[in-house]
Amino acid sequence: MNWIKNSILSFVQKAKDKFKKERASKKDQEQSLWINCPGCNQMQLKEDLKQNFNICKCSHHFDLDPKIRFKNLLFDEGHFDEIECPSWSSPDPLNIEINGKKYIDKYKGYQKKTGQQSALLIGHGKIGGIKAVVVGYNFSFGGAAFSQRENEHFLAAAQFAIENEVELFLSIYQSGGMSVYGNIHSLKSMSVCQMVHTMLKKKNIINIGILGSKITGGTFVNIFANDFLFSENPVAHDQLFSGKRVSAGVRSSDNTEMPNDFGEGTFLEKHGMIDGCFTSRLEVKTNIVTLTKVLLKKAETQAKNEASNVTVDPYLQAASKS
Ligand SMILES: [Zn+2]
Repeated sequence: MNWIKNSILSFVQKAKDKFKKERASKKDQEQSLWINCPGCNQMQLKEDLKQNFNICKCSHHFDLDPKIRFKNLLFDEGHFDEIECPSWSSPDPLNIEINGKKYIDKYKGYQKKTGQQSALLIGHGKIGGIKAVVVGYNFSFGGAAFSQRENEHFLAAAQFAIENEVELFLSIYQSGGMSVYGNIHSLKSMSVCQMVHTMLKKKNIINIGILGSKITGGTFVNIFANDFLFSENPVAHDQLFSGKRVSAGVRSSDNTEMPNDFGEGTFLEKHGMIDGCFTSRLEVKTNIVTLTKVLLKKAETQAKNEASNVTVDPYLQAASKS
């Protein structure tokens, strides 16, 4: 019955080849005026999405360039200054070369495409009058994969925040994970993020993380180095270590059904992994400013009480710290 098996295999191969030919290349997709929205499965004009900061009518949030976000949705009057990446930090400490192609050349391509020094765009300025440092992950920069250069850039941001006594340290996550090309240097980011968290805490700098369009892989672990965590949108997909698609593949082997909202903002909130979800990225600034002002006021009152050595009822003191 070999002829039957061969016929089936030949048919499957032909179907695969046809599908490959008909599928648009990455370059074609980038050049197209249209994009398919995974939220509503409808074709959307890229220009229309751009006008609404890459939010579809169905409320699906596409990736957003951190520069556009900083200028239009975060910093007061759109003004911020960039914190530079240390020039000595190498993007390719292991000199990786695969099939004759050097990784350093690929990295330079990302720099040219985005105009950024690393996968992070880091700005400082005022948000609602609050002195802030903001770390924005750019997914267009190689999936915002973390490696040695990103670690050094992130440390430079924390150092700036401490030296300049800012009040808020905000991270906006959009990342596919660690850079495999950085190997152990990429994994160091976990300890770097924990160290930064401790440094900021000692200086009473409020440290908040926002989960953007997606955050998976090793960088997902880093989100827990924040005092507060929010999802910018309740239906944002792929906000877990392996994301919905990959996890569904693993779980299908034992026929366990995946929850419909697996990996979405609401799922994380329901399971106590984050503090809450905003309706959209357009609301991030207002909510963050309100929260930060409340926390600053609380810290100010606490400092005044300690300075005046006022005896406070122990019950009220415990309640204010909770
Ligand atoms: Zn949509």
